[in-house]
Amino acid sequence: MPELPELEVVKEVLQRRVVDQTIEGVQAIGGGSAILVRALTQQRLAEAVTGARIEEIDRRGKFLIFDLKPAVQDSRLYLALNFKLTGRLQLAQPKEKKLPKTHLIFSLSGGDQLRYVDQRTMGQLYLAADLSQVPDYATLGPEPFDVSLEEFRERLKPYRGEIKGILTRSEFIAGIGNAYADEMLWAARLHPYRKRTDLKSEEIDRLYEAMQSVLREAIDHVRVEMGEAIHREPRDFMAVHMKSGALCPRCGTAISVVSANQRITNFCRTCQPGGLIKGM
Ligand SMILES: [Zn+2]
Repeated sequence: MPELPELEVVKEVLQRRVVDQTIEGVQAIGGGSAILVRALTQQRLAEAVTGARIEEIDRRGKFLIFDLKPAVQDSRLYLALNFKLTGRLQLAQPKEKKLPKTHLIFSLSGGDQLRYVDQRTMGQLYLAADLSQVPDYATLGPEPFDVSLEEFRERLKPYRGEIKGILTRSEFIAGIGNAYADEMLWAARLHPYRKRTDLKSEEIDRLYEAMQSVLREAIDHVRVEMGEAIHREPRDFMAVHMKSGALCPRCGTAISVVSANQRITNFCRTCQPGGLIKGM
């Protein structure tokens, strides 16, 4: 699932490659697009965006936002893309072979195509005149880089559950998912299932620092490894996530894995002691 670092780099690439271009047409392939596209306006996707100019691309949490200027009306229109588990965007030439499960193709005035690919068709593309109408958008918490240590401590207080679960709640802080939560907890040397109420003040400070450094370093890695291939999700650089059985880069212990609630959690038992181990 793309999280803040991947989407930040996708945003950068699209800002360079598609901003100021006009959408000349939209092609829906197969039935998938009917599931993906949710129009919160009176118009259907193709009629609304054909001829529209892409004015800006933004990221908010795990949403990528296309800010459009429609051809006819003098209003704003947004495409808000929530990638969920397997959604990806791809920049391609029209003659390039389509990846399997390509559901939508936007043809751009510069000659490129922007394609939406989703193996499990779980993503959602909202067409909206007002972003506050987009489900789960208005309730997003602040962006990690906008949160001070003091605010981080304050925002944690109402939550009493396991720290990993809290980190991945978009209303706590936006943009962090399963993968980067594992990485932050490893960097902070905190067991993912420790209760927030058990964390000492210096452990919370460590987690805050880890959140900042893990995300910033990940953006740098992803920028280099992804390049313009925005449909890829390079994650080889990660320390523990999806590294079950590999050796902890810090202490050499084999990385543990726990599957619970359809989520994989990876951590190092030596560096991240304690916690109630679920599912084992
Ligand atoms: Zn370790």
